[in-house]
Amino acid sequence: MQTSWPGHYYDGRTSTRHAVTVFLTPSGLEISLSDGSRIFWPYHELTQTQGGYEHEPARLERGQTNPASLVVEDPGFLPSMRTIAQREGRQFRGLREFPRGARVIVLAGVASLALLGVLILWGIPALAELVTPLVPTTWETALGNSIIPELAPVDLRCGSRRLRENVDKIVTRLGAAGPPTPYTFRVTIVESPVFNALAAPGGSIILFRPLVRSTETPEELAGVLAHEMQHVRLRHATKALVRDLSMAAIAGAVLGDVSGIGAFAVQAGRTLTTLHHSRGAEEEADREGMRLIQAAQIDPSGMIRFFETVKAKTANAELPGYLSTHPETDQRLARLKALAAEVPVHSTPLLPDGRWEDVKNLCQ
Ligand SMILES: [Zn+2]
Repeated sequence: MQTSWPGHYYDGRTSTRHAVTVFLTPSGLEISLSDGSRIFWPYHELTQTQGGYEHEPARLERGQTNPASLVVEDPGFLPSMRTIAQREGRQFRGLREFPRGARVIVLAGVASLALLGVLILWGIPALAELVTPLVPTTWETALGNSIIPELAPVDLRCGSRRLRENVDKIVTRLGAAGPPTPYTFRVTIVESPVFNALAAPGGSIILFRPLVRSTETPEELAGVLAHEMQHVRLRHATKALVRDLSMAAIAGAVLGDVSGIGAFAVQAGRTLTTLHHSRGAEEEADREGMRLIQAAQIDPSGMIRFFETVKAKTANAELPGYLSTHPETDQRLARLKALAAEVPVHSTPLLPDGRWEDVKNLCQ
């Protein structure tokens, strides 16, 4: 059996991606860095946070507040680790792994239906934690697609090609800097009086126009996008939908139950626009968002400046939407500044030709 694997290691304090070799030993992982140093991770201290689905790289984390993480792309890694760990009776926390291939969705469906029974019987919101990792990425995308028309009606979408190209450029740079993800990020900008941004399951991000126009630089918008991309990657919206709507409604939407889909989309859209992520989820999206900004060599002061704008608007009570969904801005700013100070970034401008002032006001 193969016992060494290439991977990437993030130390949890800086955004640097270290190429490493991972060795499977009976009691844990040995991570060998390029400078020759080695780190040992006992199996019982690990949490698997990604890798439950086909084509999704394995991600393991260790530690509480700023967990270090390890990403291994080879699909053979997790089964081998499981085999070795189990042979030694070692356990680690994490996702259940589904067999790869066509059976994945079917089995996930069966598992979800079994949990559906439990949800109907007990209806315990905490079960969202258990069910969410079982929802396949393909379901998340289907869910997102069914909700987007509700959140972003076609006639209110900004169709400006120049605006879209500039925003896509930012998303591409962020996406390329982050760990591999099964999601495709798509941004839709919507004409609306509301100052808000939100992430639907599966990769769709909606920006409401007042938020875009409030940004003074593309780096500020990158801060918002990085935060929302991490909500997607961490499945926060999916968890909220699983918590607030019944699994039956979600299954119906995914499987194309046409009779119920209109009502479902309205309800799901309402859930997302009035969404209260837990404080923990917000902090996670902030922290991982800032890391993404740093990894992409984007000036982190943009993200901080954006939340300073949010703070000013909060003080003027202009912000019922974003305020209600996001944590105390002073604490958040302090945390973001601390994170930014940890890593010196040699940033390169997002849009070297400037002219954000014109671009951000475009719509049609
Ligand atoms: Zn958020």
